[in-house]
Amino acid sequence: MFKKFVASKKKDLQERRHEIKKQLESIAEKSTRVKNDYEARFPEYGRAEDENADEVANFVDSLSLENNLENALAEVEAALKKIAKNEYGICEDCGKEMSKKRLEALPTAQYCIDCKDKNHGSV
Ligand SMILES: [Zn+2]
Repeated sequence: MFKKFVASKKKDLQERRHEIKKQLESIAEKSTRVKNDYEARFPEYGRAEDENADEVANFVDSLSLENNLENALAEVEAALKKIAKNEYGICEDCGKEMSKKRLEALPTAQYCIDCKDKNHGSV
C-alpha cells in the first residue's frame, strides 16, 4: 500500500512517542517492573498545610495526565507495531484499508470510519 505515506506516518509516530516519553519522564518515574509503565511522582513542596494541599492536587493532576500519556503511548506503540508488520492502516474490525484522510486525522486509528461509527463510538 501507500509506502511513502506510511513512512511519513512512521516518522510522525516515532516523534510522537519521543514527545510522550519526555513528558512522562518529567512527571513520573519509569517503572522498573513493567515496560512503558510510569508511576507519577509525588511532589514535595514543603510541610505547611497549604503546601500539602497543593502537593495532593498536583499529584492528582499528574496521575490523570500520566494515565492519558500512557494510553497515548500504548496507541502509538500499537500503530508502530502494525507498520513493522505491514498492517498499518488496516481496520481491525473489517480488515479493509482505511483512507489516508482517516489516518491523517488520527494516525493511531484502529478502525475505519464505518466500523468506528457502527461499533466503537469514540475510538
Ligand atoms: Zn472497518
